Amino acid sequence: MGYSIAIDGPAGAGKSTIAKKVAKELAFIYVDTGAMYRAMGLYCLREQIRPEDEAAVCRAVKDVDIQIVYRDKEQSVLLNKEDVTGLLRTEEVGSMASAISIYPDVRRKLVALQQELAKKVDVVMDGRDIGTCVLPDAPVKIYLTAGSAERAKRRCQELRSQGREADIREIEADIIARDERDMNREASPLRKAQDAVEIDSSHMGIEEVAEQVIQLYKERRG
Ligand code: C5P
Repeated sequence: MGYSIAIDGPAGAGKSTIAKKVAKELAFIYVDTGAMYRAMGLYCLREQIRPEDEAAVCRAVKDVDIQIVYRDKEQSVLLNKEDVTGLLRTEEVGSMASAISIYPDVRRKLVALQQELAKKVDVVMDGRDIGTCVLPDAPVKIYLTAGSAERAKRRCQELRSQGREADIREIEADIIARDERDMNREASPLRKAQDAVEIDSSHMGIEEVAEQVIQLYKERRG
């Protein structure tokens, strides 16, 4: 079993930025579990499967092959052998991922893949259910939050820096809807694990948050 650091929290709280930075500093592998749900979402979009059609989504889960590979420690997601990494970070794919991630069949398949990865290597894994469900024994668990307005602002800046259009009100509404769905679904909802340390990053810089996580890791590892 590798050493695991679990980072959960709502959309746009800065999980991936922090997880990547911490992984780099500790020479761990960063595992972006949202990308796996997004790959599944992309597949459903391409196949024109309606997210409400649970039977069709579950059939798709059986058919589809999702693999995670690492090149220079950077994660790539292969969807039926095609590298789709660059196609996953759109709002459309994110919404679809959120809608289909409520189904237990979808979660079972992707959780198994995530657990398999954490067995082999030291990981910083981010998502919604890592501390509660995927890696319940992770020695370091973080619940990273920030206010929805701040999260929308960050997402907007990220999109604009990629030259994409972004409407802050639309993004905040989407973030709130996604939180609502992630926190209220029946299958492993987004929740702070009992033994997770909560960090509200609304008024903190990236460095400061990453430092706090690394400090906790050092204390726990002794
Ligand atoms: O984190 P990201 O925005 O890439 O995740 C996309 C969607 O995938 C989330 O809104 C959530 O519904 C789902 N997800 C999940 N469990 C995870 C990671 C992501 O349900 N561990």
